[in-house]
Amino acid sequence: MYRVACRIQSDIGGQVMSEVWFAFDRLEPWSKRLTGRVLERVDTLGKALLLNFEDGSCIYTHNQLYGRWMFKPAGQRPDTNRQLRLALGSESRSALLYSASEIDVLEAGQLETHPFIARAGLDVLSSEADVDRIAAHVVDEAYRRRQLGHLLLDQGFLAGVGNYLRSEILFLSGLHWQLRPADLDEGQLRGFAEAVHALMWRSVRTEGITNDRARVVELERAGWKRRDYRHYVFNRDGQVCFECDRPIERVTVSGRRLYRCPVCQPG
Ligand SMILES: [Zn+2]
Repeated sequence: MYRVACRIQSDIGGQVMSEVWFAFDRLEPWSKRLTGRVLERVDTLGKALLLNFEDGSCIYTHNQLYGRWMFKPAGQRPDTNRQLRLALGSESRSALLYSASEIDVLEAGQLETHPFIARAGLDVLSSEADVDRIAAHVVDEAYRRRQLGHLLLDQGFLAGVGNYLRSEILFLSGLHWQLRPADLDEGQLRGFAEAVHALMWRSVRTEGITNDRARVVELERAGWKRRDYRHYVFNRDGQVCFECDRPIERVTVSGRRLYRCPVCQPG
């Protein structure tokens, strides 16, 4: 959702909304209230979007399976059979949400108590989630006694970490998947939070390449294919570790593939 959020932000963010339209009668009063106001900032929260207005209120959308955002110049609509659920328009551009979506509007201060938001994990790609915040989150009572290999796939822990990032984060922080936050010393905890932050952002910027930039450039030049230089360890079982030359192992944790270097990530 991060890319969609950036697109909405660049098309209509920071602008006065001349159109705010909802397909749902219950949200009708909000059309009037938000029209003429500035859409200040768009945040992601896992698969949800938070469209924050200048008065502190916020439109919450969760796309579920079929929801789709489309973008057009003001006054135009895309040629689609989908049903429009939400239209936001400035003087120049429109952002339009089609098909099944959960949509709500929250008053300033209601955000933390919304059921989805209360159970969603920390969104590493939000503006508040710096390394300190992530480190504090990791040692919360709710998580400190669970193994990292399981925790990292729990969307209630960190939103948006998929399966390949789990292996890559553990490798970059040099940690075995069976370790729990409670087992980590201060340096390890810091390293883990830094790896989470660095790799989440890197994977967005590089469209999924998590390996070190300098190494990627070097291997690309040497004729390596993307799938071979893309990750530190993920999908590389049997091949040698970039750091120590020992073979990468594959195990199954929480029902999904996890890759690790037995030397760089000792038990
Ligand atoms: Zn290694």
